[in-house]
Parts: sequence; C-alpha cells; structure tokens
Amino acid sequence: MPSSVPTLYRRGDSGTAILEFRDRLNGLGHLSDDAGGDVFDEGLDLAVRHFQQQRGLLVDGIVGPHTVRALDEAHWALGDRLLSFQVSHLLRGDDIAQLQQRLTGMGFDPGRIDGIFGHQTFDAVCDFQRNVGLTPDGTCGPATLAALHRLSRSVTGGAPAALREHEALLRQGSTPAGRIIVVDAGHGGPDAGCTSDLLEWSEANIAFDIATRVEGRLTALGATAFLTRPIDLDMALDEQARAEFSNTAGADLVISIHADALANDAARGVATYFFGNAATHSSVGQRLAQLIQDEIVARTDLPDGRIHGKTWDLLRWTTMPAVRVEIGYLSNPTDAARLSDPGFRDVVAEAIASGVQHLFTPESQD
Ligand SMILES: [Zn+2]
Repeated sequence: MPSSVPTLYRRGDSGTAILEFRDRLNGLGHLSDDAGGDVFDEGLDLAVRHFQQQRGLLVDGIVGPHTVRALDEAHWALGDRLLSFQVSHLLRGDDIAQLQQRLTGMGFDPGRIDGIFGHQTFDAVCDFQRNVGLTPDGTCGPATLAALHRLSRSVTGGAPAALREHEALLRQGSTPAGRIIVVDAGHGGPDAGCTSDLLEWSEANIAFDIATRVEGRLTALGATAFLTRPIDLDMALDEQARAEFSNTAGADLVISIHADALANDAARGVATYFFGNAATHSSVGQRLAQLIQDEIVARTDLPDGRIHGKTWDLLRWTTMPAVRVEIGYLSNPTDAARLSDPGFRDVVAEAIASGVQHLFTPESQD
C-alpha cells in the first residue's frame, strides 16, 4: 500500500490503488465478492463502510488518508513483523495492540492498548523479557513471541513474579527426572507433633513413614529426593531450618508431610497448603497443592478439606514452590484407622508422587 495516497477514492472511481483496497478488505473479511477488479463498485463501498464503522472512523465510504492508514494498521497480526521502539517513527498496528493486550493480561504495564509501540510498551516488553530469562532488548522477535504465545495461554491475570516461577519450572523439561525435590517429614525428635489415644504412632512417625514412601517413588521417577530429617532427632528442627536446608539443596520443589488432630473428634479429611496471602501467592505452589489434593481425594475416602494459601515459615522462607499436606486427623477414629494402615499410607504416597508428576506435564497433555 502506498504510504501517501494523494487523492480520495470513492464509488465510481477506478485505478490500481482500488485493487489494493480490495485486497486489504478481503483479507480482513469485509469483502465477500472481490470480482470488481480496479473499479470502486457498490460491494467495495459497502466493505469500506463496514470497515470504517468497525474502526470508529467517519463512515462515508470514502478512502482518504485516515482510512488508508487504518487499513494498513489493521492488516498486521502479531508475528508478522519484528516489533521495536523506533523513536523517529513509532510503529502502529493491530499486532501491537495484540502485544499490549497479552502483556496486560499477564500483569505487565504497556500503558493504553492503543496499537502504538511507544516507550511504555518498550518498557513492558523489557520487563517481560527479564521475567522469562530473555535478553531485555525491548524488541519483540521470534523468541519473545514464542514466550508470549506459550505463557499467555497458561498464565492470565498473574503477576510477573508468578510468571517467572512458572517459566523457571517448565524450562527444564516435562518430567520430574533430574529435579531436586525435598520431602519434609513434619516434626521429629522431641517434637512428636499431634498425638491421639486412637493411634500408637505420633504425627512425627506417620509423617516420616509417608515421606520415605514419597521419596522412594520420586526417586523411581528419576528425581533426586532429599528428606529433611532422619527418622529421629536429638533436637527439634524448626521450619526455618527446614527451609534453609531446601534452599541450600537448590530444590525445585518442597513437599512437607503432616497430619492433624483436633479436640473435636468429628473433624476428618485432607487439606493442602501453599504460600499465599491476599496480596500475593506462589502460582506453581498453588497448582502443585491442587494436584496433590485432587490425587489424594480421588484415591482415598478422606474428605476434601481443599487447598489454602498460608504464610507459614516453611512456605515463606523457601525460595522454590513449597506445599504442606495435612493428611487426616489422628483424633478421628476413621482417619486414625486409615493412617495406621501401611497400605493406605502407600496410596497417599502414590497420590503425592502422581501430583508432582502432573505438575511437569504440559497443560495441553494433561
Ligand atoms: Zn504437623
């Protein structure tokens, strides 16, 4: 399309420029019949008016400078060209509006969605690139586009921090193989955790038993699994020390195993916790919590206590996604009977390992 169209074109006119208008309007789906050739016929007039109406232009059927520029901007789709900040001549187009829309949807701030690649859009692209581990050059080329396509499907309304976490996890592949996973058996040593008259074992013993079963399964899947503590301890190990252990180990994930007890012996069920409060949360932690919770609920008769965001020390001090599973109530006769059964503890361990496996499965294959 010529950058400057000297004249106005309207119904009845003819010329080679008409062929280009026809081509653009046809590409945009406004023209069903393009048999008119280089003549500005009634069909083309209608198509121009449709287009003008859709773009918020004066609807007069006349193709002048505004309509020509709008036709040019409208035909760009994200991926058609390299997008960058050009100070002397700002790029404009629908592809830029799509880029701005995606960035906004993921929590970045390109400013108004105006289809103009200005400095604010440049800053937002740099910000996005930094968050996904690309060179922050502000140019939207193939690598940035690929990251945009991949992430805008799975991350919406998220904060940049959530996106960074998600991306870091998936960059290494789609199985638990090669990952470092810390399995934390709650309590231990002088800290027995919850106890109950219904059960010989304390929470610390049950947690350790399930943790070793989880460790075995994760190892079988090719992961490197570490327990935070041996079967017994000389002194209690606090949550911060467990978090430091996980951080030092360079863990990709942390799974902390607990059981619960309450004065009210009717309380039953399983609940899973991830790092989160009203302002922020770990998106991968939340997803892992949900996957583990769903697997346990599907495989056992434990009532679904759902997942919850908490800022407990282990969840907060760990630099990687961490979850804590509270499996059953030692104070409830049914749950206590389940927990005393090695077969049941095995099923729970299998469910947890399966949740971890699902975390690495691309969502499209899930
Ligand atoms: Zn506990």
